[in-house]
Amino acid sequence: MKYISTRGQTAHKAFSEVLLMGLAPDGGLMMPESYPQIDGQTLEKWRGLSYPELAFEIMSLFVTDIPADDLRDIINRTYTAEAFGTADITPVRTLSDGIKIQALSNGPTLAFKDMAMQFLGNAFEYVLNKESKKLNILGATSGDTGSAAEYALRGKKGVHVFMLSPEGKMSAFQRAQMFSLQDDNIHNIAVKGMFDDCQDIVKAVQNDASFKEKYHIGTVNSINWGRILAQVVYYFAGYFNATLTNEQKVSFCVPSGNFGNVCAGHIARQMGLPIHRLIVATNENDVLDEFFKTGEYRPRTADHTMVTSSPSMDISKASNFERFVFDLVDRDAAQVEALWAEVGTGKGFDLNWLLEKVHQQYGFVSGKSLHKDRLRTIAEVYQTDGELIDPHTADGVKVARQVREAGETIVCLETALAAKFEDTIREAVGDVQIPRPAGLEGLEKLPQRVQVVPNNADIVKTIIRETLEKEK
Ligand SMILES: *Cc1c(COP(=O)(O)O)cnc(C)c1O
Repeated sequence: MKYISTRGQTAHKAFSEVLLMGLAPDGGLMMPESYPQIDGQTLEKWRGLSYPELAFEIMSLFVTDIPADDLRDIINRTYTAEAFGTADITPVRTLSDGIKIQALSNGPTLAFKDMAMQFLGNAFEYVLNKESKKLNILGATSGDTGSAAEYALRGKKGVHVFMLSPEGKMSAFQRAQMFSLQDDNIHNIAVKGMFDDCQDIVKAVQNDASFKEKYHIGTVNSINWGRILAQVVYYFAGYFNATLTNEQKVSFCVPSGNFGNVCAGHIARQMGLPIHRLIVATNENDVLDEFFKTGEYRPRTADHTMVTSSPSMDISKASNFERFVFDLVDRDAAQVEALWAEVGTGKGFDLNWLLEKVHQQYGFVSGKSLHKDRLRTIAEVYQTDGELIDPHTADGVKVARQVREAGETIVCLETALAAKFEDTIREAVGDVQIPRPAGLEGLEKLPQRVQVVPNNADIVKTIIRETLEKEK
């Protein structure tokens, strides 16, 4: 399997190369040159497999430059009951209204990003070791991504993580989660500024080509192909869990921000998994809902991005969306290039003439959920089912209920646990006991490691330089 860029100007690459890449050199995103097709017989065979066995079958179709035994070992070390709470890894349950919930958030940081990031951590370590390379991850986070990256890469050989976060802007739980890590290769840097300032510092460092090369600076953002691939697996697992035979079809409802999660669902569907519809749920930041309703893609600027109570979906540009548009325009890279030139000017584009294809051929529909919908859904589910769902998952459940057709089986992806967002949960249901997974009870009381710095890229560079020079 080789990988190509959505902009068509990058030489074919193998998985191990794509794994360590961010954007392609031509500004596009890397995609498999074709989707392996899964027939009914294979699907039948896969139905009885354990999660790691299934992951191996799927991933080995896309990863052809790592020996099978090594890939199997990476997967087996990643998807354990120890890390994800159950041997099922992503168990499916049914709410009393018939909507199914697939738990993707039982990993170490209680959000679905662990599903991919834990794999990435082990895959990075393997590839770096094999090629005697080092990688120093520089990232900016407003919460979930940074902690998932740190928990995936803590203690890994050949890797350091420098994670910028806006000082005082994350929840107490999120801060405790990241800053309590004591591993020598994890470096928390709290910037006196906003999340956008952190991102600007990352860009400034990335743009210093000689620094970037000398210190092997890389990223783990949501456009990483390895993350998307790892996410394809749980659509198959969720399908098998929610059905009895391969004659049945299932729809997935996905709380979406950067379009990484649902992009993996699109790929599973293109491989032949019997997915009826892919339901994109957004919050107040509805740039994707607008596209799937009108065909217009109008990304917003940062100051038009709302701060909401489902913060991990607060995006103005959906960075993985280009992958779907690439397929939508029949993989015409020149057209993708032209469309994103329009995005670059701030105008966006209008593909309303392809809307029927988006719905009929690709099965996409969408809906949005606002703060009051989220609170009401959390309260309703608490009342009818006695369980607390997190605000992002609540957006999904709200939209699923709204668009459900008679007889349709909908699996909502649970993208985080309520314990991560206690304030919103209390706003919805009052002062109740919010369950926390074992081992996290006293998290906020653990000693924390973080350096607070001014909003200044040179100071961040100095920290990176001094840390890495010391190691030599
Ligand atoms: C990241 C995240 C999302 C959005 O996922 P995308 O892949 O960016 O669409 C939704 N919910 C939670 C809890 C997240 O952490």
